Amino acid sequence: MSLSISNQRLTTMEDWFDDNSASLKAISSQPGAMAGEIMEVVNLARKFKEEFIRPQAIEMDKRIQEDHSYLPEEWVDEACRRGFFTLCVPKIFGGQGYCFPALSYFMEEIASVCLGMANIIGAHYLGLGTLICTWNLPLIARVCREIVEGERSGKACMVSLAMTEPTSGSDTPEPDLLDKGQVACLAKKEDGGYRVNGSKIFISNGHFSTWHMTVAFEDLARPSETAVILAVRNGAKGFQVAGKESKMGQLACPASELVFNDCFIPNEQVALSPDMTRGYSRTHREIYQHLFDDLCSISRAGVCALSAGAARGAYESALAFAAMAKKKGDYLINSEWVQCRLAEMYKNAVVARLLYIEANYANGNHGIYKGLQAKPVYYALRYLPKSFLSWGLGKALGLEWLTGLIRKRQLSGFNPGMVQRTAGLGALAKFASSDAACENAQLAMEMMGAKGLRHELGTEKRLRDIKLLQIYEGTNQICRMDLFRNLIARRLPQAKLYEECV
Ligand SMILES: Cc1cc2nc3c(=O)[nH]c(=O)nc-3n(C[C@H](O)[C@H](O)[C@H](O)COP(=O)(O)OP(=O)(O)OC[C@H]3O[C@@H](n4cnc5c(N)ncnc54)[C@H](O)[C@@H]3O)c2cc1C
Repeated sequence: MSLSISNQRLTTMEDWFDDNSASLKAISSQPGAMAGEIMEVVNLARKFKEEFIRPQAIEMDKRIQEDHSYLPEEWVDEACRRGFFTLCVPKIFGGQGYCFPALSYFMEEIASVCLGMANIIGAHYLGLGTLICTWNLPLIARVCREIVEGERSGKACMVSLAMTEPTSGSDTPEPDLLDKGQVACLAKKEDGGYRVNGSKIFISNGHFSTWHMTVAFEDLARPSETAVILAVRNGAKGFQVAGKESKMGQLACPASELVFNDCFIPNEQVALSPDMTRGYSRTHREIYQHLFDDLCSISRAGVCALSAGAARGAYESALAFAAMAKKKGDYLINSEWVQCRLAEMYKNAVVARLLYIEANYANGNHGIYKGLQAKPVYYALRYLPKSFLSWGLGKALGLEWLTGLIRKRQLSGFNPGMVQRTAGLGALAKFASSDAACENAQLAMEMMGAKGLRHELGTEKRLRDIKLLQIYEGTNQICRMDLFRNLIARRLPQAKLYEECV
């Protein structure tokens, strides 16, 4: 009878789906000081949103609607003045060194008031995160030094991620889709570097950034095997930040077009290339997939945090409205249908928050944060003086064999099962939370009736802003397929992936 089933079998029936103690394990292994760090950044965000963003978010949105070419440089300057672009730059590279999960809580706060501002900060960490995921330590050190220097001088140095092309969006981070797609950004290998031709579109912060982490391909017929990631700096000959999209929401954060016209990028700015991964235990294609799975595990947790904030903002505005507005002599909040709706909205915000917390637990337990959250590393990086850390870094950077070894270990020594877990949870968190945020925006609008359409209430802005969350960082349809690929199909060899794509 089933009584003979061993305890071990009972707890490993489906190691991830049935493992409802995963978060518990993550909490117990996490350094205790992280909670204090998180509260510090939440307070920074709350101060910023109340003092600076809330008083002008709606006006700024109106201003950019009237003049789509307007760039809110003053917002970037203020974020820079408050140190937000170095917040999570590791201390070893000169930054403030707050742990990466803290950024999610920070983003939730800002997004509850303005998704445009939240994306200005979030997209900078997306660019920087891409560079970090290449484990090219000398280049990471160089770019981080400039970010820190930019903050000191008062002129922000930011990083963007440039993947999307006019003929390739969803395909670019997924090798199976990439090889069936139509990428066109060519990186031709030459003596001393690469010559790049092509263009990128919808690049968040393109107009504000100094560095652009650009994905291009040596051979357009074999993109996943020949992908290169280049750190392109403003001022490079043949590189131009061209148009700015006239888009529907998140207007404060520009979506830019980048054009490469015979643009030469020297070897020192090549973050990853097929030459660099030659001789590794995994193919370049596998490494490319791993890199973007790692990146999406954290960036989608980030978009989930934006969604949690947006869902919360919609709930807060609906609550304030229902508590003030009267119908037939009584407050709206005394109608049962309104109470049920507010309960639904509250639930959406809290569930979205739990999702990014869960995704970050997985990243800490099995993903890219694992090494940084190991207690000895965490406390050394937190409490050793910056001068000592930068002395150590200087020494390490001088040892090419050491930086090469670290990169090789990080890029090819991964456990595919663990990557699937974090990438699957990241995808789940992203689509579930952004759908919940969209639902909240619509419920708030419904509750307010025609008044919700008025610009000055901010509800129609929020609806326009939130819709974008379902599209970037992998559309919600692609995220559903990523969940299927990573968490459902892995035990079903007969399951075919991306079959319908041609
Ligand atoms: C505000 C904003 C900011 C952005 N910022 C950046 C940025 O900083 N950097 C960057 O590189 N990109 C950025 N993007 C681009 C974004 O990543 C892409 O828009 C997204 O990947 C989708 O690509 P696409 O728009 O080309 O749509 P497509 O890929 O053309 O998709 C169109 C539709 O087809 C569906 N679809 C596509 N492929 C499949 C498939 N295989 N199976 C089933 N359905 C499929 C999609 O889900 C979608 O519904 C941004 C986009 C927006 C809107």
